Amino acid sequence: MAPPSILRDTEDGSESDMGENYADINWEGLSFSLTQTDYMHVMKCTKGEKFSQGSLIRYGNIEISPAAGIINYGQGIFEGLKAYRTEDGRILLFRPEENALRMKMGADRLCMPSPSVEQFVDAVKQTVLANKRWVPPPGKGTLYLRPLLMGTGAALGLAPSPEYTFLIYCSPVGKYHEGGRLNLKVEDKFHRSIAGSGGTGGIKSVTNYAPIYTAVTEAKANGFSDVLFLDSATGKNIEEATACNIFVVKENDIFTPAIDGSILPGVTRKSIIDIAIDLGYKVIERSISVEEMMSADEVFCTGTAVVVTSVASVTYKETRAEYKTGAETLSQKLQGILVGIQTGCIEDKKSWTVQVD
Ligand SMILES: *Cc1c(COP(=O)(O)O)cnc(C)c1O
Repeated sequence: MAPPSILRDTEDGSESDMGENYADINWEGLSFSLTQTDYMHVMKCTKGEKFSQGSLIRYGNIEISPAAGIINYGQGIFEGLKAYRTEDGRILLFRPEENALRMKMGADRLCMPSPSVEQFVDAVKQTVLANKRWVPPPGKGTLYLRPLLMGTGAALGLAPSPEYTFLIYCSPVGKYHEGGRLNLKVEDKFHRSIAGSGGTGGIKSVTNYAPIYTAVTEAKANGFSDVLFLDSATGKNIEEATACNIFVVKENDIFTPAIDGSILPGVTRKSIIDIAIDLGYKVIERSISVEEMMSADEVFCTGTAVVVTSVASVTYKETRAEYKTGAETLSQKLQGILVGIQTGCIEDKKSWTVQVD
C-alpha cells in the first residue's frame, strides 16, 4: 500500500465544501451498491505492536504485496455499520462499539491485532465527517461504512502476516432488497459455517462469504431473494441467511436461533431482541427446526444492511410456506422503533446512538 498522506481538506478548497452541501448525485435512486466517496481512513501496525495514529487519505485503490496474508490465506475480517442523518441535521451512528468489539473477537480468532474500541469509533467518526456530503438526506438512505482489518504484510509461508492494515471506506446506500419482502430458499446442499464453536461462522471473516456465492446465485436464478442456511451438524435447524439473522413469530412468542459459534451475532439481532422484550414479548433463543419455521405466523430477517425485512415465503425442497407481511406485522412494528431510534425520531433511552459531530 502507498504510504498514506494526510489530506484533511478537499482539494478545491475549504471546509465549507464538507459542510451543509450534498454531493451531486441523484439521492432518489439509491440502491445498495458502491458509490465512491472522497476519503478513506487507514491505520497500520506491525505484528506484535499496537495500532497507533491513523489518517484520512483520498479514496482510491490501495497497493498491496502479492504475498499479503489477506490475498494468499484470507487473513481478514470486515464490519458494516451505518451513519444516519436526522431531520434536525445531526449525524448519528448506531452502537459502533458493538462493531468494534466484534471486530476484536474476529481479530483474536484470526491472529490479528485489532484497533481499540476507542480507535475504531474515532476512525468511524472521522470517516463520516470527511465524507459528510455523502450522508444521504433523511429518508433517502444512509452512509454505509465498511471497516476492514487485514494482513497486508508479505510472507510466503503459512503464518500470521507481519503487518496489518485497518481501513474504513464508505458509500451512500439505499435499500438492500428492492421490494422489501423476501422469498427465501432453504439451502439443503451447502452450509455457511461449521457447527459449534470450532469454526468461524461467528465472526465476519472474509473467508465466509465467497463459498456461499454458488448457493445464492442459483437461488436468485430461480427467483428467490436469498437462501437460508441449515446447521451443518444435523441439517435440520435453521441458522441464518447470507448476511442477516432470522426471527420466527408464532402466536405471541418470538424465536431466533441461539448464538452458538456458527451464527453471526448481529448487532441488529441483539437490538431487536431488546426492543421486543421492552414491548412485553417473550423472546426465546434456541434451535429452530425447518418444520417449526414452516408453521410459523411470521418470519423476518435482521441486519445492518437489510434492517428488519419481512419474509413473505420460505421454500424447503418442494414445500412453500407463506407468512403474514405488511403494516400489521410485528416486524413492521419492530422496524419502526429501531429506525426511529437510529434516525433520532424516537428518544434513545438506551444510549445506543452516538452523535458524530
Ligand atoms: C453482518 C451479518 C449479519 C448481521 O449483523 P448486523 O450486526 O446486524 O449487521 C448477520 N449474518 C451474517 C452472516 C453477517 O455477515
